[in-house]
Amino acid sequence: MRTKLIAGNWKMNKTQADAKALVKELLPMVKKSTATVVLCVPYLSIDTVSKLTKGSVVKVGSQNIAWADSGAFTGEISAAMQKECGVEYAVIGHSERRQYFGETDETVCKRTVQALKNGITPIVCVGESEQQKEAGQTNDVCSTQIQGAFAGIEARDAAKCIVAYEPIWAIGTGKTATAEDANDTIVCIRAEIEKLYDKETAQKILILYGGSMNAKNAEELLSKSDIDGGLIGGASLKAEDFAQIVTAANK
Ligand code: PEP
Repeated sequence: MRTKLIAGNWKMNKTQADAKALVKELLPMVKKSTATVVLCVPYLSIDTVSKLTKGSVVKVGSQNIAWADSGAFTGEISAAMQKECGVEYAVIGHSERRQYFGETDETVCKRTVQALKNGITPIVCVGESEQQKEAGQTNDVCSTQIQGAFAGIEARDAAKCIVAYEPIWAIGTGKTATAEDANDTIVCIRAEIEKLYDKETAQKILILYGGSMNAKNAEELLSKSDIDGGLIGGASLKAEDFAQIVTAANK
């Protein structure tokens, strides 16, 4: 049995004051959750959110990780630095980073390795564009991204990773994949992981859906056999909306 996980991706939103207010509102709403709850917050709010959530069900995540240990990489934040501040999860290879910041399958892999090396759980994002979906390439695109992200990673480390299937056309658009389509693609992603490793590893890995998941559609998406949780952008910015998704994951 895989424990469901709901992760909020705040992207570049919320000042520290906003972060404090949201977390204080959210904590009592999700305190009984048996599903894991993660907040992937901007770097500058990590310390604040870590302190506020200490001892609660809410875990702290970041939205990226440097692919080197340390050194002359201006503007980067290493996995060790993040771990020291309480980071337990990191979103890696989000489509916005692939689109605007030159992220490739190779750098996604290097960042994933850094996360694993430092005891941070990577949430590796994959997903197709609208054009690729229309060309019937969804499964191929996701498989290629999975192969790239996991290149050289051993099964025992792969089993510690989380994958988020996020169709790019669904991110921030209000268009959600149908629960059936999302589940079918996730089944294919799991099959690709089984091909790369083995059945046990594939069955262990949590695979989330992300792309306009909200309080209304969460329950249906999360009821599907292979959807192990959600990566939530817009709907994670309001405590009540996010808490409703957490509630759906607990059903
Ligand atoms: C995301 O940023 O990962 C995401 C899924 O965003 P949204 O929920 O707003 O579509």
